[in-house]
Amino acid sequence: MSIKLHPKKGLAPHLTFCPRCHKEGQEIVLMGAKNFVSICPSCQGRHFGGSQGKCHFCGDSMYGAQRRELDDFERIPGELCLSCQQEEKKHREIVEAGGIYWKCKCGAFGVMTKEYPLAAKVREAANVSAPNPIGLEVENCPSCEKKA
Ligand SMILES: [Zn+2]
Ligand SMILES: [Zn+2]
Ligand SMILES: [Zn+2]
Repeated sequence: MSIKLHPKKGLAPHLTFCPRCHKEGQEIVLMGAKNFVSICPSCQGRHFGGSQGKCHFCGDSMYGAQRRELDDFERIPGELCLSCQQEEKKHREIVEAGGIYWKCKCGAFGVMTKEYPLAAKVREAANVSAPNPIGLEVENCPSCEKKA
């Protein structure tokens, strides 16, 4: 492995967090000269180590993105944690069996099994049949209703 060193911070090691549930991770990632984060001007998505061209969250151009140096103890996204890996696998199985993914405006996400009438309706409307994945964006969900 070769890494371009940061002029002041050398290898610039950072601990990680799980990109899915944001729990603290165990890995150490060496950022070296890429010890910065760029913020997408459209969706405020954070790109660690920088990004050229398009934002990988919203697809807009990263032109004019703000860039700042990472703090020494700032965590960066790493691998999925074990429970997220397991949950993601379970979700994939539910979706492959005819369910759908959903994502709420509040940031919550999950899956609906094929037993929900909405799951079948969404698949029919989009003409996407199992096991192909399909997702739905919703305005509210049980987790934001609880908060309200
Ligand atoms: Zn996780
Ligand atoms: Zn974006
Ligand atoms: Zn919600």
